[in-house]
Amino acid sequence: MRAAFLDGAEDIAVREVPPIPAEGHLVEIDVIACGICGSDLHRWRRPDLMAGQIEPSIPGMAGHEVVARVPRADGGRGRRVVVEPNLAGNCGKCGACLDGKAVFCSNRTALRSWGFSERMAVNASSLFDVPDGMADDLASLTEPLACAVHAYRASHTFAAQDGTLAGRRIAVIGGGAIGLLAIAAATRLGADALLCVARYPRQAAAAATLGAIEVLDPVVDDVASRIRKFAPDVVVEAVGGGPETFDLAVRTVNPGGEVLVLGLFDDPTHLDTRRALFRELRLLFSMTYGVVDGRHDFEVALEFLESDPAAFGGLVSHRFPLEETADAFVAAADKSTGALRIVVAP
Ligand SMILES: [Zn+2]
Ligand SMILES: [Zn+2]
Repeated sequence: MRAAFLDGAEDIAVREVPPIPAEGHLVEIDVIACGICGSDLHRWRRPDLMAGQIEPSIPGMAGHEVVARVPRADGGRGRRVVVEPNLAGNCGKCGACLDGKAVFCSNRTALRSWGFSERMAVNASSLFDVPDGMADDLASLTEPLACAVHAYRASHTFAAQDGTLAGRRIAVIGGGAIGLLAIAAATRLGADALLCVARYPRQAAAAATLGAIEVLDPVVDDVASRIRKFAPDVVVEAVGGGPETFDLAVRTVNPGGEVLVLGLFDDPTHLDTRRALFRELRLLFSMTYGVVDGRHDFEVALEFLESDPAAFGGLVSHRFPLEETADAFVAAADKSTGALRIVVAP
C-alpha cells in the first residue's frame, strides 16, 4: 500500500510499504479521506516536540481525521465509517476506558498505520457509521467537531445548566477550523450569543455563517476591550502556538467565567494566577473526546453535521491526492491562501 511518512521537519515522502495485515481482533479499513489537523501541522513543523509521544516516521503520519470504508468479504462496497482515534487501539478494559475516557487508556496498542495511507487496522469499536448521503469531506469534520463538542460538554458551564449552553455568551478566539467548529457547536448546544476573533476574511465569513453575531479582526480591532464589552461567560482558546491568546482569554472572560482551551501550545505558558484567583476563573484544558452523559461526542458531532450540511460543507476548502500529501501540508500551513480544512484522499 502507499503511505505518507514524516521523515523530518516539513519533510514528507510517500512510499510503498508492504500491506499491513490486520492482527487479532482488529478490523481492516480502506481510507477514503483524511483531514489535516492543527496537531498534524504542529508535528510537521516541530517533530522534535512530539518525541516520545508518537513514533516520528510511521506510515500515515498519525493522520487521525479518517473517513474509511470497511471492505466486504464478497468484494462489494462496504459501509462508510469515521474512526474515533482514541478507541482505535485502546484496551477497552482499564479504568479510563471503562469511564469513557479512552484518551487516557493505560494499555494502548500502537496502530501500525494512520490516516495518510491507503489502509489501517483498528478496533471495531472505534468505527461510527457515516449517515447515508453525507459527503466524505463533510464526514471528515467529525473528529475536529467532536473536539469542540467535547470542550463544551465537559465544561462546568454545561453541567451546571443541565446539559445546555442556553443563555450563555461565548467568545471564540481563533478562526481556524477548530475555532469555526467551536462556533458551530456552541450555537447548536444552545448558546445565546457568539463572538469570534478571526484573522482572515474567509474565516470571518465562515464564522458569521456558522452563527457568530460579532466577528473581530485582530489586526484592526482592539480585541481585548471588545471581548470584555461583549462580556463572555465562556471564552474558548482555539489558536495555540504562542502564549498571547491564552492570556487574552484569561484577561477577557467574565468574573466567575470559564476558559476552555483547545489550542496546542509550543512551550509551557504563563498564567496570570492573581487575575484568575481574583476573578474565580475556571479553566478546562479539553483533550479530544470521549463519552459524556452516556453519549459519545462523536455521535453528537455526526448528528450536527447531518442536520446542517450546507453550513458545514464549505469548511473543507481543498482536496489533495495522497501522492501530494507534502503539497497539502504546505497549503494547510498557509492560511492566507484561504485554506480552511484540507483533506487528503488516497
Ligand atoms: Zn485533530
Ligand atoms: Zn484502556
